[in-house]
Amino acid sequence: MNITLTDLNMTYANGKQALRNISFDMQSPNLTGLLGPNGAGKSTLMKLLVSELLPTSGGIQLNGSPLNKVEKQLKSALGYLPQSFGLYDELTVWQFLDYMSALKGIKNSKEAIRKVIEETNLTAKYKARIRTLSGGQRQRVGIAQALLGNPELLIFDEPTVGLDPEERINFRNLFSRTAEDKIVLLSTHIIEDIQSVCNRLIVMNEGRLLFDGTPEELIGLA
Ligand code: ADP
Ligand code: ADP
Repeated sequence: MNITLTDLNMTYANGKQALRNISFDMQSPNLTGLLGPNGAGKSTLMKLLVSELLPTSGGIQLNGSPLNKVEKQLKSALGYLPQSFGLYDELTVWQFLDYMSALKGIKNSKEAIRKVIEETNLTAKYKARIRTLSGGQRQRVGIAQALLGNPELLIFDEPTVGLDPEERINFRNLFSRTAEDKIVLLSTHIIEDIQSVCNRLIVMNEGRLLFDGTPEELIGLA
């Protein structure tokens, strides 16, 4: 799989220009960290990649075809963890994942759910209602739904926000285990999240791409 972003510009209805001439490409396997302060444009870029927003100009190609032509193909190929992810508090972990797998049109859903529950270490919690879970457990449910159906492309928007140090390390281990053969784009404002798990780093600020290289190269520049 490969994804090419060409001269992406995104201006919101209120006139705010959130992305300016963003171009880069990703080929599997590729673990890319997207680093930048609040307001840099990270979430906007991710929303374009998952077709939640359309760019003002420029385009995204998936395996050589424009993204808008491959939406069906994308649905099963994509796992997305949005920044503010709504979990249904009254559902159990299993019920929630069952619901998400129906939305994604996943066949063999039982098997798919069992697999992601195992991958995210939620086996002891699959019957628990989501409202009874800790922050780290809830975040693992968010990751589990993204992993449903074994998508080739994973988009994680600030998955480590609100995690304590131990949960942060658990997340990095989980990420390294599940992501190695995929294209993953992970946004954060914490460079340590990226250093430990990503082989590529993209830095954004005020809608522009400032750096594209390895984490080591960036540290060498500092
Ligand atoms: P982020 O941390 O990614 O910048 P925010 O907390 O700023 O996200 O935004 C939360 C939600 O509000 C998002 O869906 C975002 O698209 C939207 N939003 C952010 N800024 C504005 C704005 N200036 N006008 C309208 N909606 C906004
Ligand atoms: P990040 O994820 O890096 O924090 P965002 O992509 O959320 O950045 O936001 C980039 C810029 O676009 C910010 O100035 C934000 O306030 C603005 N923005 C985000 N969503 C909206 C929206 N729906 N309407 C207007 N402005 C928005």
